[in-house]
Parts: sequence; C-alpha cells; structure tokens
Amino acid sequence: MSEFDLIRRYFTRPTTNTILGVGDDAALLQVSPGMELAVSTDMLVGGTHFYLDTDPRQLGHKTLAVNLSDLAAMGAQPRWATLSLALPQAHDDWLQAFSEGFFALADAHGIELIGGDTTRGPLNLSVTIMGEVPQGKALRRSGAQVGDDIWVSGVLGEAALGLAHLQEQVVLPEGVRQTCIAALQKPEPRVALGQALRDIAHSAIDISDGLLADMKHILDSSGVAAEVRYDRLPKSTYFAPSNEDIDTLAQDCVLCGGDDYELCFTAPLAQREEIMALADPLHLPLTRIGSIVSGQGCKLRAANGNVIQIEKEGYDHFA
Ligand code: ADP
Ligand code: MG
Repeated sequence: MSEFDLIRRYFTRPTTNTILGVGDDAALLQVSPGMELAVSTDMLVGGTHFYLDTDPRQLGHKTLAVNLSDLAAMGAQPRWATLSLALPQAHDDWLQAFSEGFFALADAHGIELIGGDTTRGPLNLSVTIMGEVPQGKALRRSGAQVGDDIWVSGVLGEAALGLAHLQEQVVLPEGVRQTCIAALQKPEPRVALGQALRDIAHSAIDISDGLLADMKHILDSSGVAAEVRYDRLPKSTYFAPSNEDIDTLAQDCVLCGGDDYELCFTAPLAQREEIMALADPLHLPLTRIGSIVSGQGCKLRAANGNVIQIEKEGYDHFA
C-alpha cells in the first residue's frame, strides 16, 4: 500500500464544515464571525505514553481524546484536527481499527480531520486540534483569584490505578478494574463542561499530568496559592478511607497520577449553585476540593486540619 493509498483509504473523509480538507498542500478553514481560533497539539509516543501492543481502536480514541481535553480546558468548541503519524509498518487491520476509534470520537464531537502527515518511523501519533471560542471568553490558567473555590470533575486517580494494575503493582477487583482500565485507555474529554464553564469559571486546566502538578500551573500563572482538603478529593471506591495499606498508593494515584483528563477549575463562591446544577445534566460529579488563597504553592490538609506533606508532584518527561 502506498502512502497515498493509506491516506485515502483510512484518513480521507468528506467534510462539510471546511472549505478544503485532506488532499491539497494545505486545508482551508473559515473561523466563524466573533470567534477566536484555539489551537493545541499533543503527541503520543509508543513505548512512552502507551504500550506498543495497545488495542489500536482505543489508541485512535485516546490520540484524539487527549487533544480534545486541552480544548475542553480552554472552554473551546472543537472543530478541526490534523493527524501526523509515524508508523513502523502499514498493517491494514491496525489502521482500520485505529481510524475507526479516531473517527468515532471525532464524529461524537463534530470534528473534521482536515490534514496531516504520514511517514515511516517508530510509532508516534500527533494531533493538532483547532476549535472556536467566543472572543475574550477562553478559560485561561492565569485567571484564578484569591477567594475562588477550587473544583475538579470526575474521579481522580483511576487511570493511574489502571496502569498500576497493568504493571502488576496492584490486583484490582473486577468492576473497579474495568472502570480504571477504561479511564486509562478510553478517557472521555470534558468538552461540554469546559464550554459550560466559560461564563462561570475564572481559570481552568485539564489534569493530564496529575492534580498537583497541573493545579500548580494555575497557581503559578495566576500568582496565587491553594489550600486543598485531601479527604474531599473524589477518589476511586478502591481507596476506602479506612484502608491504611493502600494509602500511599492512593496519594500517588489521586494527587500525582497522570492521564485523568478531568478539569480542575476555579470559580467565585457566588457560582456554587450554578456549578452544582451542571453535574446532573453532564452526568459528571463536580467536587469542591479547596480554595485559592494568597501566597505561593499548594497546602494539602487532612480532615482534622493537619498539613499533609507531599513529596513528589506530577509526571515530567525531563525531570
Ligand atoms: P505534502 O507532501 O504536500 O506535505 P502529503 O503527501 O504529506 O502532502 O499529504 C497529502 C495530503 O494528505 C495532505 O492534504 C495532507 O494534509 C494529508 N494527510 C497526510 N497524512 C495524513 C493523515 N495521517 N491524516 C489525514 N490527512 C493526512
Ligand atoms: Mg507532508
């Protein structure tokens, strides 16, 4: 199969929201009046971000999902994506499953694939995603204000727990195991939540490198500090509060575990009810975990008010 057959067979589909899609030297896009273009790129490297034998359908999903998560954190409506692939070889079954996983999620969000690049090399999957956000309305990391509540969506640490299971560091009971492995392999980006928060939140970020590491980006960009209650964090049911044995694992997964793709955001107290009212229609737990204070860094407290010492933060490819 030639490179061009491959692109035509697996990655060329008719577009309706695009002036010109795959097949020319560049795509042509029209941004809607009154909107800003939000652009983000995320790359998944085989052997670093995923096991090389990962199910290709799930990989197609995840390649797009991690990018959607970034647009969600900006409050943007996803519109277009490009896909750059380095593949060790062109296997029909693999490409078929990968493209199905990719397009299923693309269709669910009304995104069109408008271009990319295809080359031979160690497995590497890179998406650039483009979306629209009303002028001046994007959620930035730099908007947190002293007095804001800090919120997170979903449940923390499940993806890390799923990974710990695959790495045989824990043996998860069925049920929990399925949820955690699905969280790792088939994350659901919080696109609708991000857009709903545009006029509500002061700042937002997606937690892909762990809660503490990503929240720190909000704190640093905004020039503020945080007080967070560990007991209030939404955790996997596997971490029963009484189970002392797995407490270190719980802290690792919940505070530092990567791959959660939930949103962490800050909002004024006056917005509490409005935020709580979003949880039901979105079928997504939203939890108030602490508040923004003046100063620097994040202080984590137990239910009794004691400060919990935290050693590591999140995942850093160059640390
Ligand atoms: P060029 O040589 O001009 O860079 P290519 O031959 O790399 O163009 O690509 C031909 C067309 O196919 C372009 O429109 C490009 O955007 C698109 N394309 C290449 N790889 C992919 C891919 N993996 N997914 C979607 N579109 C792709
Ligand atoms: Mg090219």
